[in-house]
Amino acid sequence: MTPLIDPFARAISYLRVSVTDRCDFRCTYCMTEHMEFLPKKELLTLEELDRLCSAFVRMGVEKLRITGGEPLVRRGIMTFFQAMSRHLETGALKELTLTTNGSQLGRFAKDLAAAGVRRVNVSLDTLDETKFARVTRWGRLPQVLKGIEAAKAAGLKVKINAVALKGFNEDELFRMVEWCAAEGHDLTFIEVMPMGDMGEADRLDQYWSLEDLRSRLAEHYTLIHLAERTGGPARYVQLEETGQKIGFITPLSHNFCESCNRVRLTCTGELYMCLGQEDRADLRAPLRASEDDAVLASAIRAAIARKPKGHDFDYSRQTIAGQTLRHMSHTGG
Ligand code: SAM
Ligand code: SF4
Repeated sequence: MTPLIDPFARAISYLRVSVTDRCDFRCTYCMTEHMEFLPKKELLTLEELDRLCSAFVRMGVEKLRITGGEPLVRRGIMTFFQAMSRHLETGALKELTLTTNGSQLGRFAKDLAAAGVRRVNVSLDTLDETKFARVTRWGRLPQVLKGIEAAKAAGLKVKINAVALKGFNEDELFRMVEWCAAEGHDLTFIEVMPMGDMGEADRLDQYWSLEDLRSRLAEHYTLIHLAERTGGPARYVQLEETGQKIGFITPLSHNFCESCNRVRLTCTGELYMCLGQEDRADLRAPLRASEDDAVLASAIRAAIARKPKGHDFDYSRQTIAGQTLRHMSHTGG
């Protein structure tokens, strides 16, 4: 089948799939405390998710990242991972992975490894138990740390994703770096993005530029720039002293959309061609319209033909531009 190429000649080889909008945490930058979730009947079934992901794999998607909400709270999700492993076996899919808050890894790490998952991204913004409870509202740090241990024990490579939050984890920069070095985890920092209506004041208060974070790192370590690119917005350095890799996702202070290779599917079957834009294509209707995947395939192609050049997030001049009303948990971070 012809691969998916967008109007800017970018090949789409990476699909992120949100399998639920629900979560067992309520992180302050991601959700409000009393979030309303979609009625369960709005969600794609696991069989529909399988059909959709398989269609993308046939059209050249080589990397599938499962996310949410919290993907591991979706009932029966292991069946879906097990089903996707058939695409790893044929070699069509090169990587099956997930982004998780880690709370359920204790239960599922072994099954994930058995389904062919090799790496997990675990979101962790602080190593302080009290601060962890504050930022996640409902999360408990010891449970997550146990989950990370279980992942390691199952042979999964762990990458820690930390959102850089002004006045919150600034003082833990070196502690996080040292902990990741000791545990053998890669570490990526993310700038907080204006997604979901949480009040303008909050966002600007939370924003800690990674340029600043990076210069603080450079005061203690020698940073070696790595040319490595994943087609995503992350840029990497290696710390000469420890050998560890540190990533920076800087949608605000830099814009790296030109090499974007990804699209995102929500748990209701909407395809977002860009995380930072509102345009989307409904794939649920074509999916349900026919058992033959031809209708679905042409809907996917039509959507990719509309992929925009990039996002419009901008925090300059102390106002927020390009904000989306959608929460990250809806599109899948
Ligand atoms: N629940 C899983 C988790 O927390 O890893 C997966 C979904 S979560 C939406 C994916 C990632 O998005 C997490 O690393 C989270 O920190 C990040 N995130 C959520 N809201 C964000 C925001 N407004 N700006 C930047 N990152 C955000
Ligand atoms: Fe849940 Fe992840 Fe959002 Fe936190 S960042 S509320 S863990 S979806």
